[in-house]
Amino acid sequence: MSITKNLQDIQSQLPKNVTLVAVSKTKPVSDIMQAYQSGQRIFGENKIQDMVEKFDEMPKDIQWHMIGHVQRNKVKYMAHFVRLIHGVENFKTLKEIDKQAAKHNRIIDCLLQIKIASEDSKFGMTANEASEILQSKEFSELKNVNVIGVMGMATFTDNEEQIRSEFNLLKSTFNDLKLYNQKLTTISMGMSGDYKLAIDCGSTMVRVGSSIFGVRNQ
Ligand SMILES: *Cc1c(COP(=O)(O)O)cnc(C)c1O
Repeated sequence: MSITKNLQDIQSQLPKNVTLVAVSKTKPVSDIMQAYQSGQRIFGENKIQDMVEKFDEMPKDIQWHMIGHVQRNKVKYMAHFVRLIHGVENFKTLKEIDKQAAKHNRIIDCLLQIKIASEDSKFGMTANEASEILQSKEFSELKNVNVIGVMGMATFTDNEEQIRSEFNLLKSTFNDLKLYNQKLTTISMGMSGDYKLAIDCGSTMVRVGSSIFGVRNQ
């Protein structure tokens, strides 16, 4: 199966209101260019350094999404171009993104990562923490970040009911947060193995890697 064919298959199954982030982490520019030539413009990377290298080499109409853990000391390397940061885990990171965005006269869109999985390995804040941030005075003073929604990763398991209940938790967290913050539009949830289930549960943005580009070696 070719990258183009994979992309078309997935795109044809997505409802109109669901955005596809093609997760290109660990994949070479030549693979990403195949997806680009099939019309894909949104790509997700999980390491800031890799994303910067690909940004430098690739067409400038690509929208780069940072989907991985955000190390605060590296925000400065992506602040001039990153389009959406999915994995904001605390206020300090939001503050750093704001500071670096201001240097480039930009407003950077962000998602708050909510911990919905039972696994300890998964990052993120609680729904309460997210709610506190969005209602805080400190947050209202940040002029160069725009929080547009939430992101979550389900537990790595075959148990569909568990995944469904974790996705439902993210959706209801989003609904609660939206009561205070009408600007929220985006629920980033769903990967190759579970994006259809995620869409059933209200996802508006899916992050699909291996179903497009094939399995990763790393
Ligand atoms: C790697 C990754 C994905 C894509 O995973 P696939 O199973 O290859 O689709 C999605 N989201 C995050 C945060 C990832 O790190």
